[in-house]
Parts: sequence; structure tokens; C-alpha cells
Amino acid sequence: MRTGIPVEEALEAILDVARPLPPEMAPAHAALGRVLAERVCSRRTLPPADCSAMDGYAVRAADLPEAGRVLPVVFEVAAGGRGPRPLRAGEAARIFTGAPLPQGADSVVRQEDTEADGERVRFQVAVRRGANVRRAGEDVATGEEVIRTGTRLGPGHLGMLASLGRSLVRVHRRPRVALLSGGDELVEPDGDPSGGRIVSSNAYSLGAQCREAGALATNLGIARDSPEDLERLLRAGLGADLLVSSAGVSVGDHDHVRPVLEKLGCQLVFWGVLMKPGYPLAFGRFAAAGDALAGPLVFGLPGNPVSAMVTFEQFVRPALLRMAGHRACFRPEVEAVLEEELCKSPGRLHFVRVVLRREGERWVARSTGSQSSGVLRSMTLANGLLLFPAEAERLVAGSRVRVQVTDPTLFDRVQATDPTLFDRVRATDPTRFDRMQSGT
Ligand code: AMP
Ligand code: MG
Repeated sequence: MRTGIPVEEALEAILDVARPLPPEMAPAHAALGRVLAERVCSRRTLPPADCSAMDGYAVRAADLPEAGRVLPVVFEVAAGGRGPRPLRAGEAARIFTGAPLPQGADSVVRQEDTEADGERVRFQVAVRRGANVRRAGEDVATGEEVIRTGTRLGPGHLGMLASLGRSLVRVHRRPRVALLSGGDELVEPDGDPSGGRIVSSNAYSLGAQCREAGALATNLGIARDSPEDLERLLRAGLGADLLVSSAGVSVGDHDHVRPVLEKLGCQLVFWGVLMKPGYPLAFGRFAAAGDALAGPLVFGLPGNPVSAMVTFEQFVRPALLRMAGHRACFRPEVEAVLEEELCKSPGRLHFVRVVLRREGERWVARSTGSQSSGVLRSMTLANGLLLFPAEAERLVAGSRVRVQVTDPTLFDRVQATDPTLFDRVRATDPTRFDRMQSGT
């Protein structure tokens, strides 16, 4: 087992064993955010036939070389219907959006460019051949690869799957995580926190981080600080893909996580990462049986609420994303201008909780305040983690720094420097969006 290793080395060791989980069939309507484990090829042509893109008249362009021509309307084709016979030279057919073009027709003139006159119609425009026609196969051709394996399914993909007649789709299984908390001092949130006890908040924050990463989390509860109780709960999590415990992984007399894991047959890969918060982090795996792991990957996270969340963010989240089949496992990073001076001693990479904001063309970062690993408040304020490099001791105000964006909604809320459509609408009536949201 390696100890006291750099963050990158720890991440490499984890991603080395966190493999995509086997695929399963899932209902396509429920597959948002899942990762495709097949190539989706079309057995259909979309649209299946040439059809009208407008309500109007199907014609032969050769009949309408100039504006002002009049043609008889010989039949009608509605969406879902078809023409009773081919369209002949010198004829027009009434047609509606999505209806198949009758044989013989090659163009559609939109209704707005015509004037109905009894059984006849006057065209106020000349016609370009192919106008307002959606060509068969212009969306998807038969046999074509439409969605690539490894794609993260978004709303457009789900719509496409439906169009292709695919109500079931092959996706990577979602990782199942078993969470447990350890400590004699811990009570559940509804419990009595008097007499030196504290509420176990980690299961809540870590459970939410699991769900945010698309994983399924089960809370196994609180283990007392005894090897027996810890073993009982750890055993309960051995059927999961990932076992995540928090606390009891340090070097204190009551820290039993490591010896109990080893007793259960877990091979510890490393313990201790050169970072702050979160040095006491253990990572292990159960011996491989053939190609498959014989048990879950195991993370023993530190107990301090901020350390638990930051180590989850750095190590557990990428592992979960990798297991769910994602290729991109890391948060986006931005370069920001630091607003204040930061100091530390050398040796560990610090993850400074910061508030990022957009100022004109640049990002500006300021610390959330106390960086103590017990100050959970910092995690309610932060939308980013600033990387304060291991060997650096001082970052002066105005330095350019790297910040991981931990709040995925941050980019939604940033206003572009050029006024967007929405800004312009807002400028004409600042209350319009508020009224739309409240339904008035
Ligand atoms: P430990 O790693 O057991 O030394 O715990 C470090 C600190 O984290 C102690 O102050 C614990 O009380 C606190 N802690 C441990 N587990 C939790 C938890 N589930 N929720 C909140 N705080 C915790
Ligand atoms: Mg403890």
C-alpha cells in the first residue's frame, strides 16, 4: 500500500480500476443522462417519403415559371394521408404540413403566397423546384449511424430514439453506492445532539453528490466505533459497486476502518493523499476474480464534512462517472483572477472553496472565508474549488488561478457580454420573465 501520495497519483490509481459497468436495456424515455453502450443505426428513413414542410399547394415547378399563374386544385392530401393519383401537368393539390407529396409534384407553394378562387388557386410567386419539400431521408438514411456509442443521452437523443422506433436502449448500468458513516458521536438528523454528539450530515451530502453524478445511493446508517459494528455495516455494503465510508480512517485509537477492510479481504491501494482538506483518504479494492472485481471499490473518506465532500468531488465522482461509461469524468475548469492574497505551507495541494463570478470578460474568485475542514458553510457558498498548487506558499491578489467549477448551473446564470435575445427582451419589459415564471 502506498501512503502520502500526490493527488494525481491517487486519481490515476483509482481510474485504473474504475471500469465502465456492464450494459443493460433501459426504457429510452428514462435514459436521460445515461451513456449509450451500443451504436444506434437506423432501420428507417426519416422522413420516410418526400413531404410538405408547409400548409399550401403541391405543384410542378415547371407549371409556375412566373407569378400570377392559376391552376385547378384537383385533390387534397392531409398529414397521414396520401394522394389518390399522381399529379398531372397543369394541376395543383391542396397539401398540409407533413403530408407526403403526391407523385408527379416536385414543389410546395405556401398558402400565404396564394389566393384561393373556388376550385382554382392563383399563385402570387414563381416557384423554385424543390421549394418547401422535406426530402425522404434528409434527416436519417436507412442503415446510417445516428448516435455513437459512448454518447451521453440528452433530450434530442431520446427524441431520435423514439423516431427510430427504439423504446428500449442499451446503456451502461448506473453505479450503486453504499454509504456508511462511522463514529460514536454521531446521531441521525432527528436525533438528540446533546452531550457532545453531532448530527451525521455526511450521508446527506455524500448521498446527494452520488445522485448528482447519476449514481444510485443507499445509506447503510451509522457504525459505532467498534470493529464488530463496523464490520457488520461494511459487510452489508459488499454487494454494491462502490462502498463509501466516512470517518474512522485516520490513525486514532478509534479508527477501525482500515483494519476491518483488510480483514474482509479488501486490498488497500493507498492511504493518505497530499491534499487539504482530506489527507486521510483510503482507497481499496477486492481481489479480482477473473476479469470482474469480487467486490466493490472502497473509499474510506475522512469524517470532517468538508473533507468528505472535497475528496468525494476529486476521487469518487470521477470513478462513478467512469463506471457509468462517461468519457469526460472531470469538472470544467476556468482561469480566474484571485481577489485576495492566499497563503499556506508547502507540501499539499489545497482545494480552496471559492465564489466565482463573471466580471466582463473575466472570472473573478474570492474565498468563501474560513477554510477549516469542519466549516460546512463553505460548501453552501462555494461554486468552485481553487487549486492552490502543492509547492506554492503564496498567491497574491490579482494572480491568475485555476478553479474547478463545482456548480454546474453557474454557466446558466452568467450573462454574456453581448446582450442576448433574452437581455433585449428583458430591457423592453424587465418584469416579463418574472410574470412568465409565476404564471401571471
Ligand atoms: P474522524 O475521521 O472519525 O476522526 O472524524 C473527523 C471529524 O469528522 C470529527 O469531528 C467527527 O465528529 C466528524 N464526523 C465524522 N463523521 C461525520 C458525519 N457522518 N457527519 C458529520 N461529521 C462527521
Ligand atoms: Mg471518528
